[in-house]
Amino acid sequence: MNAPPFTPARLVVIGAGPAGYPAAFHAADLGLRVTLVDLEEHPGGVCLHRGCIPSKALLHVARWLAEAEELRDCGVETAPPRLDLNRLREWKESVVRRLTGGLGQLRRARGVETIRGRARFAGPDTIIIETAEGRRTLDWDAALVATGSRPATLPGWPQSPRVMDSTGALDLPDVPRRMLVVGGGYIGLELGTVYAALGSRVCVVEATPGLLPGADRDLVAPLAKRLAARFEAIWLDTRVVEAREQGEAIRVTLQHAAETRDETFDRVLISVGRRPNRENLGLAEAGIETDARGCIRVDERRRTSHPRVWAAGDIAGEPMLAHKATAEARVAVEAMAGRTTVWDARAIPAVVYTDPEIAWAGLTETAAAREGQPVRVVRFPWTASGRALTLERTEGLTKLVLDPDSGRVLGVGIVGVGAGDMIAEGALAIEIGATAEDLALTIHPHPTLSETVMEAAELASGRAIHVLPRA
Ligand code: NAD
Repeated sequence: MNAPPFTPARLVVIGAGPAGYPAAFHAADLGLRVTLVDLEEHPGGVCLHRGCIPSKALLHVARWLAEAEELRDCGVETAPPRLDLNRLREWKESVVRRLTGGLGQLRRARGVETIRGRARFAGPDTIIIETAEGRRTLDWDAALVATGSRPATLPGWPQSPRVMDSTGALDLPDVPRRMLVVGGGYIGLELGTVYAALGSRVCVVEATPGLLPGADRDLVAPLAKRLAARFEAIWLDTRVVEAREQGEAIRVTLQHAAETRDETFDRVLISVGRRPNRENLGLAEAGIETDARGCIRVDERRRTSHPRVWAAGDIAGEPMLAHKATAEARVAVEAMAGRTTVWDARAIPAVVYTDPEIAWAGLTETAAAREGQPVRVVRFPWTASGRALTLERTEGLTKLVLDPDSGRVLGVGIVGVGAGDMIAEGALAIEIGATAEDLALTIHPHPTLSETVMEAAELASGRAIHVLPRA
């Protein structure tokens, strides 16, 4: 994949999500003539229209509702909240409108041409777009494929509005009395948290022995404990072997080991992963190779097997995270503009926006163990954080995964309120090759949760103040 560099005059970006729209904007800023093709009127993709943003708006409300209850422990009684689902939905949609509408203005101001329609390759040199007005063929020198992904489906489920994917659940059709979440991953736990706060009795069925497989168990434990109190049930190592619509309900047969039993729910959310949107794109006609999972193969500059086509975001493979998509888009655009650039991220932070949040960056303890890599791990429990005490949220934990010889920070993991914001410091530490000593000597503001990063680092050098250093 070492085709000679060329500088395209005209770039077509297919898909306006967190890979596509930043790519289009960046390319326009670099002087390219850019056409951005998407099915939606405004940029944003799944993340802004039907994913990260609306779910975070609802999680914010869920947090308020939980806090209203928790205030009782601090001596404040509030009347039980009354839910106006129409207004909640309208507010959530207004958040999305403001954000995507603003991006639409930025797109116009940059002179990015916009075509609303579905693009596909009809050979190595031809891109066709089906629009409401008819078919168009584009002139292009370079293309970026950023078509994203969609929720995975499970075979054998009834076609019913009661069986929802994340898009359906974010529409908030109602607050079901009893809801089943299939899949205890990012989406299942985030949206399960929302529906539980709104008043649903939420049950989670997860095929593996633990929630959030892949995340370190000590980070998942405080979340699992809190969810056990907020959800009706969490069934691990369990699968749905049959599902059928029965009147106004969905009846499922669950299997755990050799046992099966039936349960009935008003709605079901299926959140068992995402699949790349590669169908009907004409990838094979254009000579663009995909891998076994259907993601487009890219090199370290995000160029595909076609010398004038790049790919970024979910369609270019895991992790399917918006910030990874945006970072890849920048590399792709700079590469096509002839700049020296390469994808060499040491840390792509992951955040699960539950309550508490879980966040990690770089090497996890689980991955180190799997790969037999020796590491030193230091953990700072939030019971020793003054700020966590004032928030009445001491269940958190901050840990550093260090190189045992140099003390270099290889990974950071945090569980606790605000972990998603705090992980950025960890990602920076890993990217710049900081050591635990660097973190320990950086003065962190008091009293903040960010001090837990510094205090974990102090543990590594035996200087900890608020916990006893281990011998
Ligand atoms: P996921 O991969 O996070 O979790 C899916 C879960 O479903 C896993 O725990 C898996 O073991 C389980 N599972 C699979 N098949 C099952 C079955 N038949 N029965 C029971 N359990 C089953 O997937 P997701 O939650 O759908 O999210 C998809 C992707 O979207 C994520 O991997 C992530 O890349 C992205 N996402 C990210 C965020 C975020 O950054 N906060 C939020 C939402 C989604």
